[in-house]
Formats: sequence, structure tokens, C-alpha cells
Amino acid sequence: MTPTTLNEWLMHRGEAGYRAKQIIEWIYERGVSTFDEMTNLSRTLRQRLSADLRLYASTVVRDVESTDRTRKLLLRWADGATTECVMIPDGRRRTACISTQVGCPVGCVFCASGLNGLDRQLTAGEIVEQAMRVRNLCGDERLSNVVFMGLGEPLHNYDATLAALRTINAEWGMNIGARKITISTVGLPKQIERLADEKLQITLAISLHAPDDELRRKIIPWAASVSIEALIESANVYFSRTGREVTLEYVLLGDLNDQPEHARELARVAKRTRGNVNLIRYNPVEGLPYRRPESAAATKFQEVLRERGVNSHLRKSRGLDIDGACGQLRRRVGEAPESTGVTVA
Ligand code: SAH
Ligand code: SF4
Repeated sequence: MTPTTLNEWLMHRGEAGYRAKQIIEWIYERGVSTFDEMTNLSRTLRQRLSADLRLYASTVVRDVESTDRTRKLLLRWADGATTECVMIPDGRRRTACISTQVGCPVGCVFCASGLNGLDRQLTAGEIVEQAMRVRNLCGDERLSNVVFMGLGEPLHNYDATLAALRTINAEWGMNIGARKITISTVGLPKQIERLADEKLQITLAISLHAPDDELRRKIIPWAASVSIEALIESANVYFSRTGREVTLEYVLLGDLNDQPEHARELARVAKRTRGNVNLIRYNPVEGLPYRRPESAAATKFQEVLRERGVNSHLRKSRGLDIDGACGQLRRRVGEAPESTGVTVA
């Protein structure tokens, strides 16, 4: 709910509209987790709120912490669906990685999230709740960044993702600056252009993973209907309408797309946009035949890009010991019984 919809909800029940502001302050500023804690509301209103609305709708079924302090939660929603969200500490930075769908309809060959297709979309509330749950793990530090890089394809759940993003960004809401928010997409040109028109200062990351259409189509089923050409065009539209450079993500899969010739070809593609390349060494998924490249191969790949004047970052892998890649923990746990204990990996 936004202040407007909450206000309407209250008015319908004969409550004063200004209560909406109080309730929202309790949630986002003071971080309470029950309506009962909202002590400046009448008991009747608190009871009504508890009966009709839910503040936190999920149960934490797993809470695992990596030796690198990355922490992953597996949440179970009322219908039994499960999703993951992650808190990634890095210096003083605290990043929440959140999901937008239960499963994923795309089915990239290397990814654990899409192995069983899409179960259902997440609602805006469920998406925000993950960011709030991660925020609650941050202790005295402030949650500084949010990345939509968990389970699912955000632009295939466009409206809920955007509504969640606005709450995460809103001053009345989680108040996280747009520049600290990243949406990662497998690359849907129409939706990218729609996103460009929202005129938000968020970062857009496009998952490329291959420098030519033939290889890309082997890795990403949906690439069959979207050429790299079309993606570059939409990246350029995004840049021209928002002034924000686009990130090209490239998961390095051992011997598949990590050779110097791939890097040379990728440099040609990348130079056609105003952006940078994010290299991610593959985080192996049990049962899948893909390999994590040696760090020497990754460094060499990056060097080839650098020689050609392409700005790139080799992302640190986090949480390797806790099924770090999205979808892995959920897959492993399956229908495990509920538990709220912390497992330190
Ligand atoms: N569906 C969106 C966002 C979620 S995936 C997308 O594909 O962009 C977020 C990023 O994690 C993508 O770049 C994806 O390729 C990457 N990813 C997924 N599984 C991975 C794994 N096992 N190891 C490394 N990166 C992975
Ligand atoms: Fe879906 Fe992204 Fe995984 Fe591909 S990489 S299956 S688009 S979550």
C-alpha cells in the first residue's frame, strides 16, 4: 500500500486520513513488525489493522550466513511458494538482493532459478517485504543498495516491480536513492524502453552473456526472439532518455563464453553503448554441467576488454558456501520443514 491507498482504506472505515502517515512512519522509519507496536493508534484501529492487513506476510524458513558475512533468507509465502533474498555486506555498504518472481519463465541454461519455469508472480508487497527483511538484518548499518537480481525476470513482472521500486525509493518509504537501485534484466527491449520513460535514475543492467546471437541463443532461450542489435538499441534509448549508463552483465561460463575471442567480440558490442561491462564468474549449480572459469581466464578476459578501451569490473563472488547464486538454496531446501534457526556455513 502507498500513503494514498492506505488513506483510502482508513477513510472507508471512518478513520482520520492522517493516521496513514503515522502508520507508514511506524513501518518504514521506526521499523516495527506488528500493528500492536503502533502505540499512538487506538486499540480498535490496531485490532482492525491486524485483522485485515498483513505487515510481514512471509515466514523465514532458512537463514544462512556465509563465512564472508553474506546472509541469505529463504522466505515462504502463505500459499507455500518460496523465494530468496540476500544481504551482501561490503565495507559499509549493505546491499539487498531481492526476487521478483517465484521461479523464472526464461530458463537460462546455467541458472537454478528457471529450472522449473515460473510458479507465479510476486506482488509489489512481497517484493518490498524482502527488502525490509534484509534491512532488518543490517543492525546499526543502513541498507544502502537494492538490486533486483534474485529469482525471476523483473521486467516480466513489470507493474509489481515498478510499484515495489517506487516504495523502496520513496522518501516516505525505504528512502533508498534511485542511483543505489539496480534492475537486472535478461533483456526485453519494449519493457526497457517503457522503463526509460519512467524517468528514474536507477541503474539498468542487461544480461548479455554472449557476444553474438548464435551463442546467446544457446544460453538464453528468450534470446531467440531478441537480437543483440535490438538490445543495444534499447540500451541506447535508455541512456538517451535517462542519462544513465547501462551495465552489460556477462556471466563467465568455463570454455563456453570465456575465451579471448569472445572478449574481443564483446568489446565491439560494448563500444556501441555508453556503459560498462560487469563480469561475473559462474557460481556452479548442482546437477548442471557448467563450470566456473579459473580466475586467470577471467582476468585475461578482462584484460582483453581493457586493451580495447572497455570499462569492466570483475565482480567478487559472494556467498559461494551458502548456495550464493539465486535459486540454489530454494532448490536445495524444497519442501523442508519450517525453521528460523541461523545456519552458519
Ligand atoms: N532475470 C534477471 C535478473 C535475475 S538473475 C537477469 O537474468 O538478469 C541476475 C543475474 O545473476 C543475471 O545476470 C544472471 O545471469 C546471474 N546469474 C544467475 N545464476 C547465476 C550463477 N549460477 N552464477 C553466476 N551468475 C548467475
Ligand atoms: Fe531467469 Fe535471470 Fe535466471 Fe535467466 S538468469 S533464468 S532470466 S533469473
